[in-house]
Amino acid sequence: MLADVTARLREAGVPGPVLDAELLVAHAMDTERYRLRVDDDRDLDPSEVALIKRLAGRRARFEPVAYLLGRKEFYSLDFIVNRHVLIPRPETELLVDMVVYYARQNARVADIGTGSGAIAVAVKHARADLEVHATDISPKALAVARKNAARLLGKKSIMFHQGDLFAPLPGMRFQVIAVNPPYVDRGVAGSLQKDLSYEPEEALFSGGGGRDTIERVLKDAPSHLEENGVLIIEIGEEMGDFATRAGKDSGFAVSVLRDYSGLDRIAIMKK
Ligand code: SAM
Ligand code: GLN
Repeated sequence: MLADVTARLREAGVPGPVLDAELLVAHAMDTERYRLRVDDDRDLDPSEVALIKRLAGRRARFEPVAYLLGRKEFYSLDFIVNRHVLIPRPETELLVDMVVYYARQNARVADIGTGSGAIAVAVKHARADLEVHATDISPKALAVARKNAARLLGKKSIMFHQGDLFAPLPGMRFQVIAVNPPYVDRGVAGSLQKDLSYEPEEALFSGGGGRDTIERVLKDAPSHLEENGVLIIEIGEEMGDFATRAGKDSGFAVSVLRDYSGLDRIAIMKK
């Protein structure tokens, strides 16, 4: 079965067909990938075979593995994901590290555009002392984030708010504000990797060459930061100079960090 699925994915041009086949077959057999060599010998019942075929067919059409499994690991935590949320990316773990580093004891922090809740939940998991607020414009994304917070942290661990950027946080100030905004240029949406077409558009794309949402955040963030507060934003790899300039125009001292691939990724903006 494993060999058949691997061959089907390879034929479709899926990158990494061996790993993906193992993940899908293990998921359908309700076992772990490392046990497959042993368990693959057992007879599959027809419902398992049917499920494996369905999953292989979807992956052959480039639906991301995380959506097929309904799960994605982020910051060593097991997050539920579905097509209403961006699949958390490894680069974003660096943003979590920076929030954990800059947040003072018992500080109030915000995660704007929380999606699956990845940043807010990982931060609160690492730092139980913090008061964490998380927002999203998408009610369906917030439903996923709430579920992840309840599973991984317990109820009422994070305060969730629905709405556009800072609108649901009137008059509130934070010592640290974290944002992974949509920053992919809407103009190139058609020409991207096929996997991306399964993710929510409002999670990925922004106007103005991908810069619009970041510019709106820079305009509104100062009035929601405490004195000496820090705004930490994930940016596109080609946005280092733009973020430095735009941040300065909004009165911030800016530094840009590279991700593990050596690309500009996280802008640290100090008020
Ligand atoms: N924070 C999650 C992560 O890092 O995996 C998701 C980040 S995803 C790139 C951007 C998120 O921002 C999406 O969940 C999207 O729904 C939300 N979003 C987009 N525009 C927004 C807006 N104007 N106000 C609030 N949230 C917004
Ligand atoms: N890093 C993501 C990608 O290129 C984009 C995430 C975002 O827009 N914040 O797929």
